Amino acid sequence: MTAADFPSQPQQQYDAFKQLGLKLDMSRGKPAPEQLDLSNELMSAIAGYKSADGTDLRNYGGTIGIPEARALFGQLLDVPAAQVVVDSSASLSLMHDVIVYALLNGVPGHAPWVSQQPISFLCPVPGYDRHFSICEARGIKMINIPMTEAGPDMDLVEKLVAADASIKGMWCVPKYSNPGGVVYSDEVVARLAAMKTAAPDFRLLWDDAYRFHHLGEEKVAIAGILDACAKAGNPDRAFVFASTSKISWAGSGIAALAASPANIAWWTANSGVRSIGPDKINQLRHVALLQNPAKVEALMERHRQLLKPKFDAVLAQFDALLGQMPGVSWTRPQGGYFIDLVTPPGMAKRTVALAKEAGITLTPAGAAFPYGKDPQDSHIRIAPSFPSLDEITKAAQGIALSLRLAVAA
Ligand code: PLP
Repeated sequence: MTAADFPSQPQQQYDAFKQLGLKLDMSRGKPAPEQLDLSNELMSAIAGYKSADGTDLRNYGGTIGIPEARALFGQLLDVPAAQVVVDSSASLSLMHDVIVYALLNGVPGHAPWVSQQPISFLCPVPGYDRHFSICEARGIKMINIPMTEAGPDMDLVEKLVAADASIKGMWCVPKYSNPGGVVYSDEVVARLAAMKTAAPDFRLLWDDAYRFHHLGEEKVAIAGILDACAKAGNPDRAFVFASTSKISWAGSGIAALAASPANIAWWTANSGVRSIGPDKINQLRHVALLQNPAKVEALMERHRQLLKPKFDAVLAQFDALLGQMPGVSWTRPQGGYFIDLVTPPGMAKRTVALAKEAGITLTPAGAAFPYGKDPQDSHIRIAPSFPSLDEITKAAQGIALSLRLAVAA
């Protein structure tokens, strides 16, 4: 496409948009204030400070979480409560700690990963930037795995893990992935659980961050990874992570880890060194608020009602302004927090820079790839959740006009 295809129009449209003087930060997928308001009952959800078994939750202790919070997450994740740990607010911290414990002490029955350098992880792309930051900060080499509509390219994954014992792990966001909205098929889950790995201490880091976060009418369900691993004879392969960050409050929620009994025992031994116990009062008030899977589902429906119009507004603007552009596409996610806007090769960085000039801060182009390097420079993560409906509509226009200008230039 050349400038002649959009004679002077893109520049004029972009300049006009810039005049609006928009100031919008869309760099992260944060819940909007109205979404946080849905859980304001947390402020008054409990009158007491004792758990069902009479424990005084104001004190130290309870490293693996209070029994009722473990039971709730057990129901939500469809695993026995005994295989669940509930911790403080961020599941990302749990992922980080699993990796650090594995590096320093090794996973059950195996030598520390640091003693087996080099260590590498498979990273389906585009993916979650903070997963990649953990690997980069902890010296783990990352290998890009292309994503298909049904999950990671399994032929490639199986080939690599079978041949290379330095591959110790793989990041997976199995449902409504960040940023592509991909849902892993049952076949992909089964293959991940059963594949032969050269490394006997290989682990799947199964980040179920968007398990309850539907945007469409259908509540998409996926196969349980812990069951699949157990059935395939690899019971210790997966660590599952979840949190209430985008169910209740992103900064004051509770996070959970689910795994095999051996992995839970390993986690407990390691995490007992780093803490004398999490915020159990927060766990208690979350149990009072969320209560059971039906309650969680009802709360998530209210989130959906706030989020869906914002996603629809972005999609409508993209349809209108980018619909005819060769090489441009975007995802229409059935859940999660993001839209992946795919530009012609070499256009993502320029588009993000133009959007910034027009007052819209986006996640840096490349962030969805290990080392911040999108080999095609063609993915832009759009996070519609935080701005108001009016702001997000304008922002989508601005992003589209920025892309049109980048392509025309
Ligand atoms: N995992 C994914 C895939 C995410 O997109 C996010 C937040 O955007 C998180 C984890 C963060 O989870 P938490 O708030 O529980 O640390």
